[in-house]
Parts: sequence; structure tokens; C-alpha cells
Amino acid sequence: MRIAPMSWADYEHSNGRQRLVNEADPTPDLSLQKNQTFPTERTLAHNGSANATVIDLIEIIVNESPESEALRFGAYSLTFKELDILSTRLARYLRSKGIKEEIMVPVCMDRSLEMIIGILGVLKAGGAFVPIDPQHPQSRIQKILQETDAAVVLTHQQTSGKLAGIKNSVEIIEWEKIESVLNSPAELPSTSNRVPEHLAYVIFTSGSTGTPKGVLVEHRQLLSATQARISYYGGFSNVLLVPALAFDASLAAIFGSLCSGGCLFICSREDLQNPHQLAQLIPQLDTLLCVPSYYRFLLEEDLLKNANLSKVILGGEVISPELVRRHFEVNSRALLYNEYGPTETTIWATVEQINPNDQHITVGHPIEGVEAYILDPDGKLLEDNIIGELYLGGKGVTRGYLNDPHKTAESFIDNPFSSSKSRLYKTGDLCYQLPDGRLMFVGRTDDQVKINGYRMEVGEIESALQRLEGVRQAAVIVKKREHGTPYLAAFVQCTKKLDQQSLRDNLRTQLPDYMIPNIWVQLDNFPLTANGKIDRQALQALGNNQTQIVSVKRPDDSIENPLINLWQYHLPVQNISVEDDFFD
Ligand code: AMP
Repeated sequence: MRIAPMSWADYEHSNGRQRLVNEADPTPDLSLQKNQTFPTERTLAHNGSANATVIDLIEIIVNESPESEALRFGAYSLTFKELDILSTRLARYLRSKGIKEEIMVPVCMDRSLEMIIGILGVLKAGGAFVPIDPQHPQSRIQKILQETDAAVVLTHQQTSGKLAGIKNSVEIIEWEKIESVLNSPAELPSTSNRVPEHLAYVIFTSGSTGTPKGVLVEHRQLLSATQARISYYGGFSNVLLVPALAFDASLAAIFGSLCSGGCLFICSREDLQNPHQLAQLIPQLDTLLCVPSYYRFLLEEDLLKNANLSKVILGGEVISPELVRRHFEVNSRALLYNEYGPTETTIWATVEQINPNDQHITVGHPIEGVEAYILDPDGKLLEDNIIGELYLGGKGVTRGYLNDPHKTAESFIDNPFSSSKSRLYKTGDLCYQLPDGRLMFVGRTDDQVKINGYRMEVGEIESALQRLEGVRQAAVIVKKREHGTPYLAAFVQCTKKLDQQSLRDNLRTQLPDYMIPNIWVQLDNFPLTANGKIDRQALQALGNNQTQIVSVKRPDDSIENPLINLWQYHLPVQNISVEDDFFD
């Protein structure tokens, strides 16, 4: 599809999904030209340019291959030239609204071509984008908007309802209402002179004190992580955007692809779970980047039999030996990688190419520009094979947390191993180093958990629970099903009789779905340790005593009973109640 003259009036909503329609070319050519790999040397030559950012890397591609396909969503796509023109026009418009360096612009959009134009437009204007998941509860979205002190929010008409009730001073820019701006190359203030020290984006992660915390990432960190990616993998060609924009793994796919001249495939959230749609999409891909639990889903649904993947990049959580075995059984032509890295050190910090005969599934070695240290609680370097806390240094270390100098000082410390002034991020991850230098991840020093790739602090769930009327005390722990699949169990002590459904529903007004516990247990009293704290070990045992599940309504007819037995047979869960939610 060509851009000029493209009319955004031709924009339509089809089945709730955004579509770009060009009357001049209503049947876009679906044949894919496999993109060439972007020459790494040229990217790295940018190191010489002290002020380069990812936008400059994309501009190289725009100049060299303007007609290459940059984005594809279903039957609609944008070339690099089209993406460049639209994002520049948006940037100019945003400049006219006062967006400039260091100003945060929340982008509350569903997966779409516009979402990518939006984040590039914000960056080109000099601002920092703040991804907000429109599926999240309104109260959580409001908290993030307050934290960012945003003056302008970019959204779609269909998601703007989530922003209702925010301060009048915040301007909500609905994409559909600025079509005329994007159609006309009118004279508007020029785009910014961003520098590497400027803020590029802010990603909110779960916070143990009950409020999500924003990680401030500068252009130089994003550039370094992206260059290391292109250098390690030699660029991405056809990569599917699996992670949600609110997680920084999405930026690996977005900038890994755009900065190396690849094509980023986008599909709706629903299609990512739809085996029928995926069966059509997967054969077009060269690279898959996702959390292991999603890859397990693809393998279980047998969706890789027609795949032409050259790389499967997993990250964000532990990879099981079983998953590695299945990969090499089903999809052995694709190289398998394990990426590790906290948001606080910019997307990724270490990587390992996994081989079928590997004895250990490690997180590998630090990537270009990253330093890793395993330290004991006194800050002393540990020898091989001894477990300690992982500290990360180098080019990926971010600015810290938004509006939280105390937490920043706690987690980002001066680097005692460097003569130059630099910092280390205290990851909270327990690791050890194998004699060959690879890092083994073994767990956490705190209550942070990962379930299906979602990072969360059980403290945030507990705070939200404690805010509910009628809840005196609450604790949340992670338990494992028979096959090792983790899930959340909530223990509550209430001042009145509460049913599971109302607790769940109330919690859903504060937390995203993935943070809602699966199992609920009502206790008269919490088991305590000798020093009076909640005894979480004892809760592990208690959770197995399913008789205490809140609101177990006994199955009472001839249909309910056999159905419950059937579910219990097929799911690794016992004592299912008639009121349980299948998806929970
Ligand atoms: P996030 O900031 O959401 O990317 O989460 C970062 C945390 O996820 C890390 O501190 C680890 O605890 C965990 N993590 C990330 N990648 C891996 C991996 N490959 N293996 C095990 N844990 C991981």
C-alpha cells in the first residue's frame, strides 16, 4: 500500500479492529519480500555519532529502503517511508501541543499500526512514551496518569472511555480526530533535537508497596540494547509482536525489527490466542519472540508444523527442560535462545543460545555493553558455583524510578568495581556462575514473581486486597500445580462473611486480570512465625487443604456433579466449586 496521497478518512473500524484502507489499492499484495538483514556494521557505525538514537537508526532504513514493508496488520501494511511520514506529522502535531524533551506522553492504544506510529511520533517530538494497556482497570490507569503528570494522552476512540474522569487539564487526543493533521503536511513546529540523555519511555511494573512503579529509560539505553540485539542476532526480518506494549519485551520486537529493516507483524490480542488465525500467521514469520508459556501454548496447539522460523527467542521467565525438548522435537530448524533482563536495565542483559544437549539451561553471558556481578550480602564477589545476588552494570542501567528517589537509591547503587562514575542495578535475582562463565538463574531474594511472563509483586496484590471493605488481613503466595505451573493463592481474614466472587470482582477494579488470585482461602486466624510475621511456609501447606476455599457451594444436581468431575479430571485442579471461573 502506498501512502501519498493517503487519506485517514479512509480509516474504518472493522470487527472492532482498526483497518487502513486505500481506495487506490484495495487489494494489497500479500506476497512477502523477505527483508534483507540490516548490515550490523552500518548500525554500529552509529556509535561514532554521539547523538544517535533509535530514531536515527530507523531513518537510515527509511533512506535506504523506503519501500520496504515496515509494519503489517492483517491485510494492511505500511512501508518505512509511510511510517516515517506519518510519525513525523504526528510529531509535529505533538510539538504544537507542547510535547518536547522529557515530557511523558501516555499511549493508551490497543495493538494496531497506529500504536507504532504513535510511539515513534512521541519519540520524534522529543517526548517519552508511556505505554498503557487499555485493558487494565480504570483506577490503575488513573494512577499511572497521575504519576506521569501527563498533559496529553494518545488513544483511540474505542479506548478513550478508559480515560473518562481524568483531570480536565489532560488533553485526550483520539487518533480518529487528528486524521486531518496526519493527512496534511501543514507547517507546524519542527521536530525535536533529542539527545541520548533524554527520556525515551517509561514502563510501569508492579510495585511491592501497592502502586505500580515507573522505570525511566533514556534514549542511550534503548539505543545500546537495540544495537546489541542487531549485533547479536544480525537483525530481525518478519517478527510477530507478541508481548503487550506495556512490557518492555515488546520493544525488543519493535525496535529490533524497525532498526534492522525488518517487518513487524501485529495482530489483535484475540488473534494471539486464536489457533485458527495463528495457523495463517505463523508460516509468514522468521522470528518469534515471546515468553516460554506462550511458546508452550503454540507447541501444545501444534501450530509450528508449517513454521519457517529461523529464531525462537524466549525470555522473561524460566524455561523448562521439557519445553526445550519439545522445541527440538518439533521445530529444530529454528535456533532457540534464552534472554534474561529486568526492565530496569533495558529489555535484556544476558542471552544464551540453547542446544539440544545442554546439561544446564542457563541465561548465558552478558550482552554487548553489559556487566554482571554475583555478590554476597556484604557486596563481595562470589566464586563460581556459589549462589548470590546478581547486580547489573553497563550501558543498559536506566535512570531509576519515576518520583521515587528513595527506591531508586535503594536499587541503583554506585559501582564499586569501576573507577569511572557508574551504577549497578540490584536485580533481586539469585544466580550463580558456571565455570564456563554462563549464568544460572535460581530464583528471587524477594516476593516478586513471574506467572505466564507477567512480573508482579505479591505485595501489590496484598495491598489491593487489604483496601477492600471487610478484609482485615490478606496474604498472597505462589503455589505450583502438579506439572509445576505456578498460580496465585490468596488467604484472607475478613471482618464479615465475604464470597469469593465479590472479592474477585472488587479486586478486578484495581488490578489487571493476571494479578487476580486463582484460589481463595478464608482464615479465622493467620499462622504466625515465632517473630509474629505471617508464616508463608505454613500457608503453602494450608492452600492444599481445599476444604477452606471461600464459598464452596456444593454441586447439587445431576448435571453439576458430573461436570465438576469432568473438569477435575481434565485440569490439574481439585475441589472445583460450582462457582469457579473456568478462566481463573
Ligand atoms: P521484567 O522486568 O518484567 O522483564 O522482569 C524481569 C525479571 O524476570 C528478572 O528480574 C527475572 O526475575 C525474571 N526473568 C527475566 N528473564 C528471565 C529468564 N530468561 N529466566 C528466568 N527469569 C527471568
